[in-house]
Amino acid sequence: MSYHIDTIPIWDAVRSGSECPLCTLARSVESGMIELYLGGSVMEPATRIAVNDRGFCTRHLRMLWDSEQKLPLALMLDTRMDTLLEKLRPLLQAASDEAARKKPARKLTAASKLLSAVEKECAGCVVCERSGAIMERYTETVASMLSGDADFRKSFAGCRGFCQPHFAALLRELLKPALLRDPRPLIAMLCDLQREALSRLHEETHFFTTKFNYRNADKPWGTAKDAPQRALQKLRGYEAGAPEDAQNDPDSLR
Ligand SMILES: [Zn+2]
Ligand SMILES: [Zn+2]
Repeated sequence: MSYHIDTIPIWDAVRSGSECPLCTLARSVESGMIELYLGGSVMEPATRIAVNDRGFCTRHLRMLWDSEQKLPLALMLDTRMDTLLEKLRPLLQAASDEAARKKPARKLTAASKLLSAVEKECAGCVVCERSGAIMERYTETVASMLSGDADFRKSFAGCRGFCQPHFAALLRELLKPALLRDPRPLIAMLCDLQREALSRLHEETHFFTTKFNYRNADKPWGTAKDAPQRALQKLRGYEAGAPEDAQNDPDSLR
């Protein structure tokens, strides 16, 4: 499946007011992928071969499970487990035979081989792979829009910065040799934006903590009510928290 990188979602994400526009994009790419795997593509041979071979990570299995569409998920789990068994059966047998030998082997090589194979199986996820590749292209597109589109630069400068992983991804992109003749103005803009964003959120998070002092009980919350949840996102990306889904009322924590 080829995934066309459109600039409209980038514009929308930058204007969304989220703590990280790239997280906003990543979340939408990810939920599109989950829908795709539970939809018609579950029957596409190429998709099934990839799922059978590499499966899904814990996060994406959980998202697939939560969608309540149990049959497409069960169909994928069925053939994934079949493929996994085919790969592991001989290795499990060899490791078991090796460990059961009367004359102990000096090195349990079959068990080590089995361990490597299981670790490799645990590391795979087709959703992570595909959405990661799309996000790489989004990051490249943001960098090229920054260098070539003055209107975009203006909107970008008004966003609330990035989570740490996506800030690193953007900075890495701007530092790529030969991408830009002189990346320094863009790097300066990105760094100023991020410094201000981190300082603002730090202040908001600090204010949240002071609200638990009875002397500040009557002070208005202002923008600090969901600051810890936004700080989760700012620090580690969208996996750590989704502020737009925030249901937590800090008053309930008292
Ligand atoms: Zn992010
Ligand atoms: Zn995954």
